[in-house]
Amino acid sequence: MGNTPSRKALDKAIGALPESEHYFGLENFGNTCYCNSVLQALYYCGPFRQRCLEHHAVAASSGEDDLLACLCDLFRAISSQKRRCGVHAPRRFVAKLRGVNELFNNQMHQDAHEFLNYLLNESAELLEKRQKREAMRQKDGAAGEAGGAARGGAEAGGTSEGGGGPSAAAEGGEVVRPGGADGEAGGAAAGGDEDEGKEGEGGAYVPKTWVHSIFEGVLTSETRCMCCEALTTRDERFLDLSLEIEQNSSVSACMRNFSSSEPLRGDNKFFCDTCCSLQEAKRCMRVKRLPNVLALHLKRFKYVEQLQRFKKLSYRIAFPLELKLTNTAETAAEPDRKYSLFAVVVHVGAGPSHGHYICLVRSHKHWLLFDDDTVDLVEEGSLQSCFGSALESAGSTETGYILFYQADDAWSAAPSEEGEASPSAAASPATSPGQKSNSSPSSPSSIPRWQGASTAASASRGVPSCTAKH
Ligand SMILES: [Zn+2]
Repeated sequence: MGNTPSRKALDKAIGALPESEHYFGLENFGNTCYCNSVLQALYYCGPFRQRCLEHHAVAASSGEDDLLACLCDLFRAISSQKRRCGVHAPRRFVAKLRGVNELFNNQMHQDAHEFLNYLLNESAELLEKRQKREAMRQKDGAAGEAGGAARGGAEAGGTSEGGGGPSAAAEGGEVVRPGGADGEAGGAAAGGDEDEGKEGEGGAYVPKTWVHSIFEGVLTSETRCMCCEALTTRDERFLDLSLEIEQNSSVSACMRNFSSSEPLRGDNKFFCDTCCSLQEAKRCMRVKRLPNVLALHLKRFKYVEQLQRFKKLSYRIAFPLELKLTNTAETAAEPDRKYSLFAVVVHVGAGPSHGHYICLVRSHKHWLLFDDDTVDLVEEGSLQSCFGSALESAGSTETGYILFYQADDAWSAAPSEEGEASPSAAASPATSPGQKSNSSPSSPSSIPRWQGASTAASASRGVPSCTAKH
């Protein structure tokens, strides 16, 4: 990490970029490149940045100090810089992150995907809690008004948040759920709560919060009994998708593999409710509702039984600038969606025990490379150098690790990027009304992690570490 950040190409091109854009590297506080790279990707996710800036106004006025408030504060700090380029120290955010999650409270390197997954889930949860508080406050306020003595301090607090910006309730999400006033633990445990916020009237998808409206998609596992042909479906929501990878393939191929069917037989038979017995079956995972922003995690850190440790798979996985997803469930309302790549978190290094994270982002048709405190313009072609290596032993160690795609049809009011339109205005594809989801009762509070167990295992502490900076 040099003391003089290099940004020659950026300095030259900065005049051609919109004045509202600021390109700031982030200081590394000791192995925080996992954090910096993901933060940059999220900052250049136009709708996410915009909602964060809106949330900042609300959170700051009510003195909130949670992880989301710190994230929004960081985005605000970058976007309100006087200079166009520079370095920012995300002190408050990193301190808060280390304070709220033991996993990140050390100087070790962390898994960037684990961090992304945590940050999105935590932000969504904080917004949900906020919604519940607002709903309670409004209820109390309404009761107070009905009582006549309408000069409650609580009410004044409530209105101050609504001033100017979007209303506090709408800010938290698209819907205020009247039932949301019950305790958090109860809400999390109740199986019925799972469906809430997922399907509104007529089966239309209603995101719980703006984090969900941006990142959430729905997977469905379809299991067909080989005896009676009955189809059993189970839905799972996700904020990012983890893909198994194969040497010399592509993201599209990985997505196809993801949906390929898996036989259930032998010891692994399926209990068919129609047959009332264990039967051979075929199961496949499909994306039933594609998210507006698709965060794809390539599972490059694999536990190898024989070695008793994690190994990095530097496989060559080509990822296109434009991705068309067609392998959705038959029942999906919108089977095809076109996506454009806008950020790539890249893992640099040959093994899981040492490495570094950098981030490539697209901003106004330019590609930029963020490497902690340095930022510079790069050629679009440099993305290809992050596909990985077709050879086991040699080749590039810079490998795409998390890919961020935005649906072209989302936020249609802001066609390209850095959208001005509110994600709440997004034309969210609706789930087919006929397809009532059988939500998994085992799903945790809100967002089940996709393949939670294996993800947690692969993202164990200290894998990979950040010792070899290039
Ligand atoms: Zn059956």
